[in-house]
Amino acid sequence: MKNAFLISLVIIIISACTGSGRQTVIPGPEKVRKTVYVIIDGVPADMIERLELPNIREIASRGCYARSYVGGTVGRYDQTPTISAVGYTDILTGTWVNKHNVPGNDNLEPNYNYWTLFRIAKEQEREVRTGLFSSWEDNRTVLIGEGKAETDSLRIDYVYDGYEKDYAAFPNKDFEMRIFDIDEFVSQKAAECIREEAPDMSWVYLWYTDDAGHIFGNGKNFDESVRLADIQIGRVWEAVKYREEHFDEEWLFIATTDHGRGYDGYHHGGQSLRERTTWVAVNQPVNERLSGGSSAATDINPTICRFMGFDVPRDIRWEQDGVSFYGGLDITDMEISPYDSTVILSWKCLDPEAEVSVWAAASNNFRNGCPDEWLPLGTVPASAGTFTADLTSLPPSDFYKFVLDTPDGSLNRWYDGVPEKYTTFKLQPEI
Ligand SMILES: [Zn+2]
Repeated sequence: MKNAFLISLVIIIISACTGSGRQTVIPGPEKVRKTVYVIIDGVPADMIERLELPNIREIASRGCYARSYVGGTVGRYDQTPTISAVGYTDILTGTWVNKHNVPGNDNLEPNYNYWTLFRIAKEQEREVRTGLFSSWEDNRTVLIGEGKAETDSLRIDYVYDGYEKDYAAFPNKDFEMRIFDIDEFVSQKAAECIREEAPDMSWVYLWYTDDAGHIFGNGKNFDESVRLADIQIGRVWEAVKYREEHFDEEWLFIATTDHGRGYDGYHHGGQSLRERTTWVAVNQPVNERLSGGSSAATDINPTICRFMGFDVPRDIRWEQDGVSFYGGLDITDMEISPYDSTVILSWKCLDPEAEVSVWAAASNNFRNGCPDEWLPLGTVPASAGTFTADLTSLPPSDFYKFVLDTPDGSLNRWYDGVPEKYTTFKLQPEI
């Protein structure tokens, strides 16, 4: 017995010294999980891949770096402008513009029925402390809708924003460098707050890279702005590493962008490949959704929800257009094809053992804050890869929502997709 005890002790000491704490021989309580995601504005994937960006590289070395996309489905009901506030809201809600209703940067009326990450966090039974560190105040007051009746007056616990309105502290400079100064301040505050207070879920938003693109286009000045943004990301990343070293915490760290840019780097808003192509660097292991290249900005919300163990009401979850790239994944890449009086639903199977239950709704009351009647159509093995829905067996309608639900998440597509107003949305470059 004594020898066994000594051997155990030696193993524990060795594993502690070699830093292999994750394989410790004595199971401890689960670490407290926390998340921070950082958006640097308007940085195309090819720039991340071409430049030497040590912090983004280091984060990705722990988990994954992969290309992602914004813009919804080209030419379909969910096509979405590649514009800043639109991209932030794709991420916040896990939905495209046909649901979240943020088609530009100004005069916005977000549909708060599609809950943001901050609303989901506040609806948990346990207390979830949230943080927002942002160079643009509208992220809180408009997109998240802090304090509004429609968001059940949600509150954010740690807020550092609004500096863009403070011209005394951040005076005008050439090339909009005051925005860079604000990003510096915001990233410093984020690092300080995470180090000291460790909010459970935070969003850090940094703006200047987008200005640099608009002002300079492709070139060494734009490149330099991205290198500086990497240093700002590193500041926050260091705080996360400090927390993991000194506290019993495990962090999810996501760095990403809100849209790409046109071929010359000046503009964005349209559906060209470079405008649609974004990227994600993440410090946790990921599933095939991200590593396989089919991940979208709308995946970040369900990814954070899963990592954090958030309970998300079914009707909210079934409206989300993304799926988690963390944890298991049964099916992905849902497609919908009308065929006579049927609709053929198809998907890519990743777990042949999983069961897929198929649901349909002939209404979209959810948009107005009311429930839809979801009808079960059947259950098939994921390996089937397809399901044919007979529209004549459903309530007559020119609009249907279909959901494929599995133990690991859900996929959804609209049939017909009326209204199509956003597919003809006038795409304007951001000013
Ligand atoms: Zn942007």
